[in-house]
Amino acid sequence: MSTVMTDAKCKQCGYRFGMSIFDCHTSEWEFYCTRCGYHESQDWITALDGTRIGCKHETLDGHGAVWATPREPAVSESLGLRSAQDVEEAAQKMRAAIAKGELDPRSSYVTRWNPELKRAELVAGTWCQDGEVFDHQQSFRPNAGQRGKQRKPRDRR
Ligand SMILES: [Zn+2]
Repeated sequence: MSTVMTDAKCKQCGYRFGMSIFDCHTSEWEFYCTRCGYHESQDWITALDGTRIGCKHETLDGHGAVWATPREPAVSESLGLRSAQDVEEAAQKMRAAIAKGELDPRSSYVTRWNPELKRAELVAGTWCQDGEVFDHQQSFRPNAGQRGKQRKPRDRR
């Protein structure tokens, strides 16, 4: 198995550091946005004998995203939310877990995708990903600040 993980721009919210996972062996790929929860994938459809008979392209609208980092062991988990109710439940669970000290409040969050304003809003925890900051309305302001990682190699002269 060899997979390559790269940054890719999210089609739903425009976030520049969405996660793209490409399987070099099968050419199957998957995209997941840690900001709005948008998900897209392409997989082969195989017959019982293993021959490829087509491919399946799937998109799932993001209603929000969760990023949860427990205090110990500090391995983050992330998942996309598929309904407004999911977002409410995830936010309640996260607030409770932070209050109990189970999650790290500085690197855990729940977002809600606002389809009218076309932007993600922070509903619990603290945004801890690259490249974006929140303004006073706690909404993401694209391309603000200088906090993004420097991904481009410097000019060689
Ligand atoms: Zn997104």
